[in-house]
Amino acid sequence: MPSTTRLKGIPAAPGVAMGKALFFDMEELTLPRRSITEEQVPAEVLRLEEALIKTRHQIRGIQKKLSKDLGQEHAEILNAHLLVLEDQSLREEIINGLKTQRLNVEAIFNDVVHRHLRAFSRAGDEYLRERTADIDDVRKRVLRNLLGKRTDMLAQLEESVVVVARDLSPSETAQMRKGHVLAFVTDIGGRTSHTAIMAKSLEIPAVVGLESVTRRIRTGDLVIVDGTHGEVIVDPDPPTIQRYELERRRYHEITRQLLHLKDLPAETLDHHRVVLSANIELPDEVPSVIAHGAEGIGLFRTEFLYLNRSDLPTEEEQYEAYSSVATRLHPHPVIIRTMDLGGDKFLSRLEVASEMNPFMGWRAIRFSLARPDLFRIQLRAVLRASVHGNLKLMYPMISGVEELRRANEILHDVRQELLREGVPVAESLEVGAMIEVPSAALTCDLLAHDVDFFSIGTNDLIQYALAVDRVNEKIAYLYEPTHPAILRLVKQIIEVGHAAKIWVGMCGEMAGEPPLSLLLLGLGLDEFSTSPVQLPIVKQVIRSVEYSFARSVVDQVLTLRTGKEVEAFLQATLKQAVPGLAE
Ligand code: PEP
Ligand code: MG
Repeated sequence: MPSTTRLKGIPAAPGVAMGKALFFDMEELTLPRRSITEEQVPAEVLRLEEALIKTRHQIRGIQKKLSKDLGQEHAEILNAHLLVLEDQSLREEIINGLKTQRLNVEAIFNDVVHRHLRAFSRAGDEYLRERTADIDDVRKRVLRNLLGKRTDMLAQLEESVVVVARDLSPSETAQMRKGHVLAFVTDIGGRTSHTAIMAKSLEIPAVVGLESVTRRIRTGDLVIVDGTHGEVIVDPDPPTIQRYELERRRYHEITRQLLHLKDLPAETLDHHRVVLSANIELPDEVPSVIAHGAEGIGLFRTEFLYLNRSDLPTEEEQYEAYSSVATRLHPHPVIIRTMDLGGDKFLSRLEVASEMNPFMGWRAIRFSLARPDLFRIQLRAVLRASVHGNLKLMYPMISGVEELRRANEILHDVRQELLREGVPVAESLEVGAMIEVPSAALTCDLLAHDVDFFSIGTNDLIQYALAVDRVNEKIAYLYEPTHPAILRLVKQIIEVGHAAKIWVGMCGEMAGEPPLSLLLLGLGLDEFSTSPVQLPIVKQVIRSVEYSFARSVVDQVLTLRTGKEVEAFLQATLKQAVPGLAE
């Protein structure tokens, strides 16, 4: 009889799914173990040779870097790794195993190396015992080269599974669009990490920040993931399975029903109208944007075009991507956010150095201004695509007027260059600044002179204003969109924007949370941009209340002193104001 275990984490993407777990950490991954025929032995030997050569190259590359950064003696530490790779007797033992046991090379290699590891760890000689760590490191590196990258594996899954991992990068998550992932759960992560955001875009239920889920679930365990409430149930008993099956159906039914709102305007009972747009990471999300009734794209996270590849996207490729989205959304606007690389989104191709505080480091507009060669390619592509629809442009992570001016100068320069070349570009292109750094929020009156709109990036604004890393589960309880400091900042940005006669949108996750939408409506936000799946429920809230009521909610909320009080008040108010709220 299974014993049901319940784990509580951070809800990252809504929905319920049930399936067999697949432990997705290379070190623990169940290695494939399949029989091979005698004829297949030479091919497996070749795979072994190739993996050994590749690993040797990689280690030599690391040695070169270490020697340059830290000195030769540090690089020499890895000589022990090279010795293992060059060990002829080990190689022969593996080839012998292939011939006699007729199993795939990963399985034989792993068994042989494990045998040596056991012998070394029992050895009386301290030197030999210390070598076990080196050998184990070599074992993992060779296996990684034999098995391929983790990223590729997620795209190549052959059966539907619930992925269990310590952590998943946004680019690994993006690969799930091609695979069979029913849901995923991780030890690490926060509600607004790009991994969580990606899961919402893919409509894959996800729970993150479970801290020890990788110790509680094994490959093959039956798991239920409730991404709406942040719960994971391991080895559920039959009544629990039945309950969640009902919950899963209920969720689908509600989502289906909400889609009826798709073509209705996002306006209050007293006809105050706002714009509901969607956030996307890649062009293939456009059908979902349209299906959920968005009136445009409020944030196209273009950096995803740069991830999961070994080269850089060309001007032509970017032009194709931007014009295809612009054309399909026409006449609705599409806001292209210039690349926001860095933070939790890294590029191997650009070899960005690892930093102590990547979210506060060489990221977003800072990166673009330091690499005008890449920035100009992106701007050329956007300007060329601007003739195919209603494109707008915005810059991420602006922290002051100088950055904004510099970015606008480059934009102007690129535009002149295209005109000189006789390339058509739209007569005008609205340009906005993301307000996601506290210094920008506090000086947005100064920034307003140089832009046509603001888009508030609360995912970052909250992390910077409250000093809470958005991907750290240990301090997730401090990540409060309802904190009075955040509400004051948001109120100020909207008021200052309106005083400067520019429109103000929000593209952080805060815009897609129903209790907060009520508040943002009352604060006078003009545009709400969020994951397509969140749009119908936000529309339901907006269409169920009067604008004057939302404004009175703001007045009351501003008298409260803690984030928890604000949250409780908004939840209760929403329940009363929208009794049939589909959650
Ligand atoms: C934000 O910071 O709120 C935002 C929308 O940008 P991103 O989540 O991509 O950092
Ligand atoms: Mg941001």
